[in-house]
Amino acid sequence: QREADLENAAQPACTSDGHRVEVVANIGGLSDAEKGMDKGAEGVGLLRSEFLFLQREDAPGEAEQADAYMSIARAVGHSRPLVIRTLDVGGDKPLAYLPMPAEENPFLGVRGVRLSLAQPDIMKSQLRAILRAAPYAKLCIMFPMIATLDELRECKAMVEEERKALNVPPVQVGIMIEVPSAAIMAEQFAREVDFFSIGTNDLTQYVLAMDRNHPGVGRQADALNPAVLQLMASTVQAAHRHGKWVGVCGGLASDPLAVPVLVGMGVDELSVSVPSIPEIKALVRKFSKTECEALAAEVLTLSTASEVRARLTQAIKE
Ligand code: PEP
Ligand code: MG
Repeated sequence: QREADLENAAQPACTSDGHRVEVVANIGGLSDAEKGMDKGAEGVGLLRSEFLFLQREDAPGEAEQADAYMSIARAVGHSRPLVIRTLDVGGDKPLAYLPMPAEENPFLGVRGVRLSLAQPDIMKSQLRAILRAAPYAKLCIMFPMIATLDELRECKAMVEEERKALNVPPVQVGIMIEVPSAAIMAEQFAREVDFFSIGTNDLTQYVLAMDRNHPGVGRQADALNPAVLQLMASTVQAAHRHGKWVGVCGGLASDPLAVPVLVGMGVDELSVSVPSIPEIKALVRKFSKTECEALAAEVLTLSTASEVRARLTQAIKE
């Protein structure tokens, strides 16, 4: 069975009743992109662009970034999606060349897109670099930590300004759904984006008010908590009402137990860690969409993460 799964790795993942779910890779640079394609990724659902910015003395220039995005685009291939997330750093991931005042609550402070909007020069040069790579892939731009419509509109205006200046065709623009307000307002956001990608790592930490890295509390921050699942389900429904696609790029997408629930909720794309690609594809094939829908509806009525895990463990064994 394992060998058959690996052989099938290059094939698309369809449920037993023929519903296709795109399985793509989370990557942190070129070598992950190459490995991901070897493992059967159908594209990249999350390029964490931090790899270009962290652990160095000065900010990467536009040309250096454009080169990096272009080589990744070439490795992914021009017919496959490549979702590039703009810089996602802040109080919790400081940059040497961008001194920031110490914050008491860095996860609630100037982080992700908030930093990019506060320091628009960095964001503008990154957007130009990404747009210059656009002809080499089905390129999508994604903004992290969006909490308000105002932030999204500011980001989109910046994309439009740089796009027109560079005279490149429109690219898809989407947001991470990882702050509870974005999930709650998904209906309004869906009107103004091309796609959503649910970041279950941060969404879980913010919904449960549990620091994802806390040595004691972090372990309880389970993305299969029904509170998180309910927000995810309503987010997917809102996106689909507006004809927009939804991915999941947080760690939950790489958790085998979660696959049937995510498929049942209607998630269109699972962006997973490179080593998990063959296993996640195999799990999509194991169930029918109808079974997944029934299972998702059932677990959404449960009360605790451990009840959800117990029910899903049973479903996977059956
Ligand atoms: C997430 O928050 O789920 C996510 C994918 O982003 P990161 O883990 O990079 O914060
Ligand atoms: Mg995140």
